[in-house]
Amino acid sequence: HKYVYDFAEGNKDLKDLLGGKGANLAEMTNLGLPVPPGFTITTEACKAYLTTGREPDGLAAQIEAHLESLEREMGRKLGDPQDPLLVSVRSGAKFSMPGMMETVLNVGLNDRSVVGLSAQAGGNDRFAWDSYRRLIQMFGKTVCEVPGEEFEHALDDAKRAKGTQNDLDLDADDLRGLVDAYKKIFAKHTGREFPQEPREQLDLAIRAVFESWNAERAVVYRRQERIPADLGTAVNVVAMVFGNLGADSGTGVAFTRDPGSGAQGIYGDYLANAQGEDVVAGIRNTVPLQELEQIDKKSYDELLDYMARLEEHYKDLCDIEFTIERGKLWMLQTRVGKRTAAAAFVIAGQLVDEGLIDLDEALHRVNGAQLAQLMFPRFQLDHEFQPVAKGIGASPGAASGKVVFTSARAVELAAEGESVILVRRETNPDDLNGMIAAKGILTSRGGKTSHAAVVARGMGKTCVSGADELDVNVPAKKFTVAGQTVNEGDVVSIDGTTGKVYLGEVPVMPSEVVQYFEGELDPEQTDDALVKAVHRIMTHADGTRRLRVRTNADTGADAARARRFGAEGIGLCRTEHMFLGDRRELVERLILAAGDQEREAALAALLPLQREDFIEIFREMDGLPVTVRLIDPPLHEFLPPLEQLAVNVAVAQERGEDVAKEEALLAAVRRMHEENPMLGLRGVRLGLVIPGLFAMQVRAIAEAAVQVTRDGGSACPEIMVPLVGAVQELETVRAEAEKIIAEVVGDSGVEVLIGTMIEVPRAALTAGQIAEAAQFFSFGTNDLTQMGWGFSRDDVEGAFFWRYLELGIFGISPFESIDREGVGRLVRIAAEEGRAARPGLKLGVCGEHGGDPDSVHFFDEVGLDYVSCSPFRVPVARLEAGRAAI
Ligand code: ADP
Ligand code: MG
Ligand code: MG
Repeated sequence: HKYVYDFAEGNKDLKDLLGGKGANLAEMTNLGLPVPPGFTITTEACKAYLTTGREPDGLAAQIEAHLESLEREMGRKLGDPQDPLLVSVRSGAKFSMPGMMETVLNVGLNDRSVVGLSAQAGGNDRFAWDSYRRLIQMFGKTVCEVPGEEFEHALDDAKRAKGTQNDLDLDADDLRGLVDAYKKIFAKHTGREFPQEPREQLDLAIRAVFESWNAERAVVYRRQERIPADLGTAVNVVAMVFGNLGADSGTGVAFTRDPGSGAQGIYGDYLANAQGEDVVAGIRNTVPLQELEQIDKKSYDELLDYMARLEEHYKDLCDIEFTIERGKLWMLQTRVGKRTAAAAFVIAGQLVDEGLIDLDEALHRVNGAQLAQLMFPRFQLDHEFQPVAKGIGASPGAASGKVVFTSARAVELAAEGESVILVRRETNPDDLNGMIAAKGILTSRGGKTSHAAVVARGMGKTCVSGADELDVNVPAKKFTVAGQTVNEGDVVSIDGTTGKVYLGEVPVMPSEVVQYFEGELDPEQTDDALVKAVHRIMTHADGTRRLRVRTNADTGADAARARRFGAEGIGLCRTEHMFLGDRRELVERLILAAGDQEREAALAALLPLQREDFIEIFREMDGLPVTVRLIDPPLHEFLPPLEQLAVNVAVAQERGEDVAKEEALLAAVRRMHEENPMLGLRGVRLGLVIPGLFAMQVRAIAEAAVQVTRDGGSACPEIMVPLVGAVQELETVRAEAEKIIAEVVGDSGVEVLIGTMIEVPRAALTAGQIAEAAQFFSFGTNDLTQMGWGFSRDDVEGAFFWRYLELGIFGISPFESIDREGVGRLVRIAAEEGRAARPGLKLGVCGEHGGDPDSVHFFDEVGLDYVSCSPFRVPVARLEAGRAAI
């Protein structure tokens, strides 16, 4: 079995096997770019190691063979005392998990080869000892779990002794002393000496990379990003090149376009005389990449040339890690770069203009989650708000909240429902939980590529990084800026687009994308690149998709907005809210009616009110279908709470008041009390039990439709019966409804369809029979999920879903994204058997899933005619329906 690949043997399509980093190193090697030689150990080897707890057979020999050929190519032997080859051991999974797993640089250094390294570098002792101390530090921390702070404290001590803040001021002797200190720390924590044998270093580092796949922060990150837990990581062993050889060396990161806005240009950070991890960690402040032109024009021009070639080749934004060793440029990593939601749209549009991709591909490159993010509001700054600091707009959005300084405090306050801004000097992977809990992240150090920036962008969380006017003091829980002190609990606002930081809470305004959907921004007139790109891609999605998109709306205002957002009708108009508020008393009268007369009086009072509701909605949806669901919720929602009522009666009795009426009400409420109301008297059951209720609603719908049509409009009502489990239920309701409709509609030309929700598993399984009586089905996937799994949506999420997610029983709540195999299967069966019984049966979905990107793809696949979702989700569903069709 082949577990090890030379870079020359791989390519960019082998990410499953070689991980993203390895596959792209191979691709760059084969493109002829200057990549230091090396090899990749596959994810399969990692998986085998993680399941069995030991390296698979044959791996050691293959590593040996590839190491030998690397040594031949480099003309040096690993850790050779005279002239050592050094390597980095780098993790690299299929999906990028920035900073989550481990990398060890300078493997092969020991007490003897450090001297050889110095000689190799022309007697540069400082460099050699700096490299050695880095190895002990990284190896100790990542391979042997020595607490990282101990090394940092020792480094701080050395700097303090020297009277400097800058690690560059430490000379060879200082660093030799530091190596001794580090070795002591290592021995204290591990109970052994730092391993001197180069091959042992290599093997231990490889094993540590395998194991880092299951490090807690990696597990948390995968859950957040929905990356499967069983992919494993590859390990890349790469010949070292050195950016810490002096002023003519350095290391940096670059983007072929601005990953924040998508604008074309040169973006990146450069740090002279440093090794790679210094840039990402935000240890020293970097300079903008443009300045490299002054520092080293030859390398700069070469880099721009490679960036152009990579973009041309990958046909997308690429990000790059590079190192310059004494004026020689080396490419250490590339990948199709992460980007903000806005940049994703803008870049997709640009690439179409540049002829690199077509519109289908552009549509494929954006997604509904990004669009949803762009619909969030932004700060409204026409007030007198003055920023107190300006950092780097690392991840866009507008966030206000209480300042916290630790991950733990962020989690705590967020759990209490507070909005918090996590403020740190720089973040590291241990801050992940706090970053997830926070509304926004603010750091005083680090560039666009710092840990905070990369992780926040991935999460779609607002982040300002490198706001260096901030003096952050974590132990004292405060920061100072512009002469003011901000304590834990004070409110700040951060703008992740501009990088500006404000004290206090800044008001927000709608996004320009929403303004565009609202019709307030003309995409032809504006010079907003994002709006233009969104318009173009949405237009293509609309022209491509097969699925129609409707909305869930119960009011004229919602219907109107959804229509502006592109809704092609209403898929779910809930009628129950029409019975709340002032009207609740009427419903109470209806339910508690002593006889026909009382009941009919209550219904007669409700009829005109309902009719007005429907008229308004039909007008807004003129010419488009409107599915009205007959009353659904459990009875108790319309009655006063039992306990409350009992107390009132008791108190009134005590006072000797006349409580005859209240007692009657209490008795009725007792009689109707249900232990399990969601599985009780609701939906069609209610309609069958309370005479005249559904009839009144049907009449109101039909009369409203006739009225609107007479006024010159066009109403297309579809009456939907909820909670049907057996065709007989539907037949009973339908027989009565048809009589009323025939009578009301007369020769007005109005057509009213009658169909049902499929939300009880039995309905899905007897869909063939139900279809005989239904003119359409609409899948109520919320209830179908609830009843399909047998758990209550209102109770389970906090109670045990976290554990289910942790155990991987599901990767995402089945209420959020449809459970394809289970609940989805019910949908599939019902769709097939329904259509077999009644060809052309109209099929839609009206649960929350209608606006969930993954679920939209599933519904397209199953052949539904439309999805219906809340007004704000309509553009998301349109986009995803388009993506599903390409
Ligand atoms: P990550 O995935 O966290 O970015 P990397 O494996 O890319 O981790 O490595 C961390 C840093 O070390 C990067 O800046 C990278 O460029 C640098 N680096 C890795 N391998 C080498 C090498 N062979 N020579 C010089 N620098 C390296
Ligand atoms: Mg990297
Ligand atoms: Mg339901």
